[in-house]
Amino acid sequence: MTADERREELKAVLGEARDCTRCPQLASTRTTVVFGAGNADADLMFVGEAPGANEDRQGLPFVGQAGKLLEQLLGEIGLARADVFIQNTLMCRPPGNRDPQPGEIQNCSGYLLRKIELVRPRVICTLGNFATKLLRDDPTGITRLHGRPEERRIGNLDVVLYPLFHPAAALYTPAMLDTLRTDFAGIPPLLTVPEPEPEPEPAALPADEALQLGLF
Ligand code: URA
Repeated sequence: MTADERREELKAVLGEARDCTRCPQLASTRTTVVFGAGNADADLMFVGEAPGANEDRQGLPFVGQAGKLLEQLLGEIGLARADVFIQNTLMCRPPGNRDPQPGEIQNCSGYLLRKIELVRPRVICTLGNFATKLLRDDPTGITRLHGRPEERRIGNLDVVLYPLFHPAAALYTPAMLDTLRTDFAGIPPLLTVPEPEPEPEPAALPADEALQLGLF
């Protein structure tokens, strides 16, 4: 698919997501679905937790205090919000900002995966525990994992997964902000790694060998 085709498909997923009622409680309490925003062909993607009150009102991810900090940290590594794609584990605000529930994460994970496969980022930064546990499919917490890039296959895509603390955790804790800043400084080198070569076509096998392998 070309970048234009992927963008068009992303719009179709947005159309679907807008009317989503898979989580009846969230669908009845949200103001709007926060689909994600930014460069639809970004090399760098961020996945946060869930929309808060500001995001729910505006329909955009990370527009409150944590978002301002995210933008500041991006600026410090020479990037702007428009360069990256930002989305969340959940597209709807959990009432009272409670934690996302496992069933809600599951319900929203298909959308998340489709957005990843359509944007095709090379690096995905998970912000905090929820996104990290989901995309690593493992319960290990962010304190152990932050700042260590990992090569992963997510859906049909080979990416570098780079777990980071959630910016909200750094808002009132200077030591956490230092850690986040150090980890952010590790992003640009990940983006300069050359794109992987396309997988070579498998060499044609002699017919009898192919037959043995069950390829006919
Ligand atoms: N926190 C998140 O995880 N996502 C947002 O969009 C805002 C705050």
